[in-house]
Amino acid sequence: MNKIALITGISGQDGAYLGKLLLDKGYTVIGADRRSARDDKWRLRNLGIENRIIIEDFELSEISQIIRIFNKYKISEVYNLAAQSFVGSSFVNPISTSDVTGIGVLRILEVIRNLKYKPKFYQASSSEMFGAVLESPQKMTTPFNPVSPYAIAKLFAHYTTINYRKAYDMFAVSGICFNHESPLRGEDFITRKITTGLSKIKAGLLDCLEVGNIDAKRDWGFAGDYVNAMWLMLQQKKARDYIIATGKTYTVRQFINEAVKHFGFNTYWVGKNENEKLKLKKNNKVIIKINKKFYRPNEVNKLLGDTSLTEKHLKWKPTVEFKSLVQMMSLSDLKIFNKL
Ligand code: NAP
Repeated sequence: MNKIALITGISGQDGAYLGKLLLDKGYTVIGADRRSARDDKWRLRNLGIENRIIIEDFELSEISQIIRIFNKYKISEVYNLAAQSFVGSSFVNPISTSDVTGIGVLRILEVIRNLKYKPKFYQASSSEMFGAVLESPQKMTTPFNPVSPYAIAKLFAHYTTINYRKAYDMFAVSGICFNHESPLRGEDFITRKITTGLSKIKAGLLDCLEVGNIDAKRDWGFAGDYVNAMWLMLQQKKARDYIIATGKTYTVRQFINEAVKHFGFNTYWVGKNENEKLKLKKNNKVIIKINKKFYRPNEVNKLLGDTSLTEKHLKWKPTVEFKSLVQMMSLSDLKIFNKL
């Protein structure tokens, strides 16, 4: 009999890639999805798996919906990817973010604890938990120092997962994922905001792109690689947490400088701090400028993950490096927006 996997957040970036990976491995995949008036299946369609996933209604703040799914299917592996995942929104909606991203995980674990069978559980933890970093690179022993409601909620979920593993002998693990991107990344997130923005400028649909802190450093990997690490974590004999990262860090500015090349833009930076602008060499037109509105109240300046343990234990390595990732995202958006 094939294994049944439950993926929460199936409509998100990672949900789609993980869904595809598990279907390819022969799993039956239940996709937990909250009802929405928006087209939230576009990522599943993009990967050609929309009709191969069993969709179940699911809202992380409703425990009855969680219970219903676990009673309906005998689930072997649970991947909890659902969350209010945008750091910026967590400052605007701190209470609902805490409820969904933090307490939501406790709801699932409580339901699992009371089941007669014991599925394995994966929690999507985040490098944002390291926040104002106390050590670089960040490893499993680095103290956490979260500086956003999102990161605090994720840390609650992270420790709750560890607590259920230790207190109830459950196979419950957290992958501390550093930023991972793809052509399926949400358009609010900075990398995709840049590639969609430049595509729209190229197509004449946008005059100028506004961004926040371009000197923030991130460890960016490809989402398709990261979901493989999530799966590997649940195939181990020993339940333990791992860092999922590339071990390389780049600034937002470097991402922009790399991306513009794929749009045929010849550019230069002028000005300082919030007056800095990116201009086209041919006519001095400003195509990117800073808007303080996009600064976080508390900035996370530099994230860089140490994956030595992950590579050793899981035999996992990222396969897509920074330049290829920027190229993949730029070419995909160039195709989408210049055909509109
Ligand atoms: P994403 O694209 O934003 O997807 C989040 C998913 O959660 C969406 O399917 C969303 O549904 C769902 N969701 C939000 N609120 C919900 C609620 N109240 N009840 C049920 N579902 C809800 O995020 P992602 O990039 O795939 O990331 C997956 C997970 O990894 C998230 O937990 C994220 O915080 C974490 N993470 C991501 C990164 C990264 O760089 N991508 C790094 C570290 C950790 P809708 O479509 O209806 O909004």
